[in-house]
Amino acid sequence: MGGLSAPAPAPGEAPAAAPRRAAFLDRDGVINRDTGYLQRWEDFEFLPGVLPALQRLHAAGWALVVVTNQSGIARGYYTEADYQALTARMRQAMADAGAPPLAVYHCPHHPGGQVAALAVACDCRKPRPGMLQRAAAEHGLSLADSFMVGDKLADVQAARAAGVAGAYLVRCGQALEAGAAAAADAVFDDLAACVDQVLVRPSR
Ligand SMILES: [Mg+2]
Ligand SMILES: [Zn+2]
Repeated sequence: MGGLSAPAPAPGEAPAAAPRRAAFLDRDGVINRDTGYLQRWEDFEFLPGVLPALQRLHAAGWALVVVTNQSGIARGYYTEADYQALTARMRQAMADAGAPPLAVYHCPHHPGGQVAALAVACDCRKPRPGMLQRAAAEHGLSLADSFMVGDKLADVQAARAAGVAGAYLVRCGQALEAGAAAAADAVFDDLAACVDQVLVRPSR
């Protein structure tokens, strides 16, 4: 008999699961209104259209991964516990909206911080790619099939350094930093507009 057939997996070798593709999301200014060193859930405000947009991404098979610089911890403005309490509320609200994050990564460091243990030059503060790389390693994500949405040049730079396929910016009513728009693959008014664009692209 002729014809072609796919090679069988080697004995004892399980077929590899396809790496997951992720939507890496900056937090302040993308998911919620950036009020500057936000620390209390009472002050956390999801931007308009964000939760339905994240639900659509999740339903389309994108792993939602939040990557957020939180130098306010190193600066002593709020504590790791404050941050974790707020994050628990955010995760619950996202889950309730049908958009549970796979993971939330934060960088608590800043070289000029007041908390000695956190006043370091780390590999995770954006524009460095450490949070994205850690997420990929810990969750089997394919960076080359993923994209990042931010509101700062550092978000785009972290995405580039990590080898993420798309690096997008949202304005959300704010003016972008000089050079940020030119560095990004596209700029959108808000996350919902960005997600609309991503979801009309042919999936791989
Ligand atoms: Mg931001
Ligand atoms: Zn860090």
